[in-house]
Amino acid sequence: MLIVMDTYATAEQVERVCQEVLEMGYQPHPMPGPTRTAVCITGNDGPVRQSNRLSLLPGVAELIKVTKPYKLVSRDWKAFDTVVEVGEVEIGGPAIVVMAGPCTIESREQMLEMARTVTSLGATVVRGGAFKPRTLPYSFQGLGEEGLKYLAEARSLYGVPVVTEVMETETVDLVAEYADIFQIGARNMQNYALLKRVGRQGKPVLLKRGLSATVKDLLLAAEYIMAEGNKQVILCERGVRTFDDHSRFTLDLSVIPVLKELTHLPVIVDPSHAAGQYARVIPMSRAAIAAGADGLIVEVHANPAFAVCDGEQSLVPSRFEELMRQVERIAAAMDRPVAGLPSMAHGAE
Ligand code: PEP
Ligand code: MN
Repeated sequence: MLIVMDTYATAEQVERVCQEVLEMGYQPHPMPGPTRTAVCITGNDGPVRQSNRLSLLPGVAELIKVTKPYKLVSRDWKAFDTVVEVGEVEIGGPAIVVMAGPCTIESREQMLEMARTVTSLGATVVRGGAFKPRTLPYSFQGLGEEGLKYLAEARSLYGVPVVTEVMETETVDLVAEYADIFQIGARNMQNYALLKRVGRQGKPVLLKRGLSATVKDLLLAAEYIMAEGNKQVILCERGVRTFDDHSRFTLDLSVIPVLKELTHLPVIVDPSHAAGQYARVIPMSRAAIAAGADGLIVEVHANPAFAVCDGEQSLVPSRFEELMRQVERIAAAMDRPVAGLPSMAHGAE
């Protein structure tokens, strides 16, 4: 349920409403808007009982029943876009943000070289996996904390935030020591214990869509994180399974405008894991930006033939440079600059 306050409701009246919600055994989430404040109620599994206790309070304009199962992620509660701020990087603002780096951190030299390369070409967030969810239990599982150290070194050398996957509740605090953004991988999108844990940790979360997750599943996973108090969630479309196997996964571009309609959270696209093949990464990146994505997360490797993981879909630096050039042109058509590049949309100087 949403409690919509009068335009001139005072802070005390909003506070009184929140207090009443707490006394009823629910959680209040006030959201000040440009014209009035709306207070979202969570914690109810079904209709809010005794809602008259709320409608009669001073300053309350109306009560709106929220029929969607997700609340805090919904535009009903927050009409304007969420901008996730990580250091100087704003995800979900006017500028397109490109995150790039290797699938897996292989060595200190590789991580630092890739970070230098991608940041020099315009990436403003660096990625690198230290804990890898591998389909085969015998495949390389990542360098663990050693890898996180290299990633954090890249962050301090190049002054950019870093994103890495966290796979288990037990390693959330460890990953938080080194990373700026937690990545929840597709295979863990419905690991509710993990979602709650990163929801309490508080750092921004890049939540990847599950391999067969519906939009509702994805939004409810984000709701888990937000319900714990962490409002800094970035959604990521990375392809889903369909009947066809011409690509690794089917990139669901239609989800971008759908998510933009339903939620205020930023939406980015991972063309690498969807395509599974480097030659398809640039076209899918162009399409994602044209469809309204706020950014991309792309795998880059200096020597893909020798990559420990996901070499086939990794771009060599020269192709990543080409990706940035093309994305910049598409972004300009959408009147959006690309963070990290001089803006073509507003005239480069
Ligand atoms: C990754 O980003 O390296 C990864 C494993 O992604 P996903 O969870 O989307 O498969
Ligand atoms: Mn990968």
